[in-house]
Amino acid sequence: MSKLTYIAGPCAAESEEQVLETARALVATGDIIFRAGVWKPRTRPDTFQGVGDEGLLWLSRVKNELHVPVATEVVTAEQVTKALEAGIDYLWIGARTCANPIAVGAICSAIDDFRSRVTGDGLRGIFIKNPVNADAALWLGNIERLEATGVPVMAVHRGCSHQPYWEMAHQVRIARPDIPMLLDPSHMSGDAERVPSLSRVADELDYDGLMVEVHPRPQEALSDAKQQITPAVFEDIRRAPAQTFTTPLELRWLRKMMDEVDDRLWTDIAQRMAVSKQIGAYKKTQQMAVIQPTRFNEIMTKRLAWAESHGLSKEAVEIILKTLHEESIRMQQ
Ligand code: PEP
Ligand code: MN
Repeated sequence: MSKLTYIAGPCAAESEEQVLETARALVATGDIIFRAGVWKPRTRPDTFQGVGDEGLLWLSRVKNELHVPVATEVVTAEQVTKALEAGIDYLWIGARTCANPIAVGAICSAIDDFRSRVTGDGLRGIFIKNPVNADAALWLGNIERLEATGVPVMAVHRGCSHQPYWEMAHQVRIARPDIPMLLDPSHMSGDAERVPSLSRVADELDYDGLMVEVHPRPQEALSDAKQQITPAVFEDIRRAPAQTFTTPLELRWLRKMMDEVDDRLWTDIAQRMAVSKQIGAYKKTQQMAVIQPTRFNEIMTKRLAWAESHGLSKEAVEIILKTLHEESIRMQQ
């Protein structure tokens, strides 16, 4: 998968040794942008929050000694200034920050301010992850906010709550085919086992690159331990031969979107059956009949009315609902 841009490195800079060890191993695999978070916007306050400003010095060492561009995540204006003063080449805005347009606006102002003071500054680009909620419009809005700084902007699709939401990425792709889009299989899956197969989707859906979390000893990582891969696995991903596809790109996107809807649909059907089983157990304790025609007629009437306003045929809805109901009855009996 050689035509892709690779941005790789640990979730977080943990120590100077870990940063340099990871960077050396990654540089040996080919061109990369080296990433490491120094200020980590974590979900809980009792977890590792990043090493802070000191980590910028370790990234500078990587840049100067290994001659690779380096990237870090910024959340506040103050962090932007510190990162740019330290010569960080690329900034990225995380999913939590992308959910907050005021925070993105403050980041833009800090970039503008720095660039008006420092001529020939080295900021080469900004990556913006999708927001934590599947909101393509907000992601696009923040792309526009960042573009106003004049710095090249790239989108990073990382999904929400370990679901891809391919449709959200497709909307951004359609609206802004001129903006490079990278796939982040690490945050999308939350699972190192799934990172190689998800990475191959970058090829399948013609993404421009991958952002991957790599740690020399993932099980010892202070954050995102489950999803980080080793440099060796990363090397396998980048060495994987390019795939050939017989279906057009647009159809591949649409099928990816449909597969995801199906995943949700079947999960919901399984959940419906689990609730149905609980209802069956309740009916038994109350000596109620399994088949309750009034209730079924109510559900059917409601759903048929709904079908009309959702562009579905009443015939199809009736068949599907009857099938679900029959399976419920079978389970309750
Ligand atoms: C990260 O890349 O380490 C990170 C915090 O990502 P996200 O904002 O996608 O959760
Ligand atoms: Mn992470």
